[in-house]
Amino acid sequence: MNFNSDNQTLQDRDLAVLWHPTTQMKDHENMPLLPVRKGEGVWLEDMDGGRYIDAISSWWVNLFGHAHPLISQRVAEQARQLEHVILAGVTHPGAVELAERLVEITPPGLDRVFYADSGSSAVEISLKMSFHYWMNQGESERKRFVTLRNSYHGETLGTLSVGDAGLFKKVYEPLLLEPLMVDAPDGFGVPEAAREERVRLCLEEMDHVMRSHQGQICAVIVEPLVQCAGGMRMYPPGYLAGLRKLCDQHSVHLIADEIAVGFGRTGTLFACEQAAITPDFMCLSKGLTGGYLPMSAVMTREEVYQAFYADYTSLKGFLHSHSYTGNALACAAALATLDVFEHEPWLQRNQQTARWMREAVADLDEHPHVGEIRQCGMILAMEMVADREKLKPYDWRERRGQVVYRHGLENGVLLRPIGNVVYFMPPYVINQDEIGQMAAVAIAGIDRATSGRVS
Ligand SMILES: *Cc1c(COP(=O)(O)O)cnc(C)c1O
Repeated sequence: MNFNSDNQTLQDRDLAVLWHPTTQMKDHENMPLLPVRKGEGVWLEDMDGGRYIDAISSWWVNLFGHAHPLISQRVAEQARQLEHVILAGVTHPGAVELAERLVEITPPGLDRVFYADSGSSAVEISLKMSFHYWMNQGESERKRFVTLRNSYHGETLGTLSVGDAGLFKKVYEPLLLEPLMVDAPDGFGVPEAAREERVRLCLEEMDHVMRSHQGQICAVIVEPLVQCAGGMRMYPPGYLAGLRKLCDQHSVHLIADEIAVGFGRTGTLFACEQAAITPDFMCLSKGLTGGYLPMSAVMTREEVYQAFYADYTSLKGFLHSHSYTGNALACAAALATLDVFEHEPWLQRNQQTARWMREAVADLDEHPHVGEIRQCGMILAMEMVADREKLKPYDWRERRGQVVYRHGLENGVLLRPIGNVVYFMPPYVINQDEIGQMAAVAIAGIDRATSGRVS
């Protein structure tokens, strides 16, 4: 990064007035901010013309690159027509068409769509709907949610409650609901041959928790196949299939939080497809608008909808709203995104792209400080460890991921390691050349971060 001119000016102005998300702002005393003026495809351009590959799809939201011609055009057209209208008592073509198409492409049985404006709000809605469904059925003893260790579902109070994001959650613990926490079936540190057994044991524990809280649980919430914010920890589809069975046996809702994994990230359009299951609620956001506008949706079954459908005075209605619910610009971006999916066989193309990504980091296979390279579709993660044999983690205070982050910025790649986990989750339009550049920078960054002491 060049810091003589426009980059420096914007950074100075920023640091005088802004407070950035999930950031200890003091870090910016010696960590540069990346000032971006333009995006195109996988590339971001800074104020001085420096270029960076967006290896993380701008927090996993972008699918087809920045400033995509079709999506940009559709949003601009929509802005000239209708930017936004209240969705209570009012409707508009975009909101209806998007709902119809979401019903079409999501697993069979998810026939109702409730819009919101962020991933967290979608998760909140699914929790409230599940609880309220049981209330409306006269089951007022159901107040608990089951969640997996190491999970992440957002950062509002309700969503923090059902997550296990250690550092993010700890301070607020006194304010939160108490979920039932069950082991996650991810395979890190488990030998290949023992992974199936691990899944079985995790399901057994789940069964036990459900049995011992019969009639008290509203729902189980999971991130299908990949716990993304928890360090891209992955597990096999068999777990989801087993979990669906348990939820059926014990009459508990299953909430699939596909906010990060939806829209093709794991290889299929939705991760639940790989287990051939339909959850009772599916939360969508991030990729929904192709990374253009904040929007989310909760999909649910007709039977859930019907439990709220009654005379007003029965007070069974779901009285929840957000000002920007069903925003017309966001609907236009989402519809354009679905069109892009239809115009080209992206899921098929991503299979090749995913192979290129894996091949590009083959040099790390024997690296003494890379404990595992794991991949699920278009998500590839490399976990740095102090000791490869024992998978001994680095002390978090050493902040080795930061070294990789900084190395990336100095060399034209925006990486954003989660602790000691360096990962790629690029826009699907990344080509083989760009993958080569991204991988070379990540490998050099990992070398730098793992050679010797970091103060
Ligand atoms: C990002 C994320 C959320 C929260 O979405 P926001 O839009 O940041 O509120 C919830 N669940 C998962 C799995 C996520 O990755």
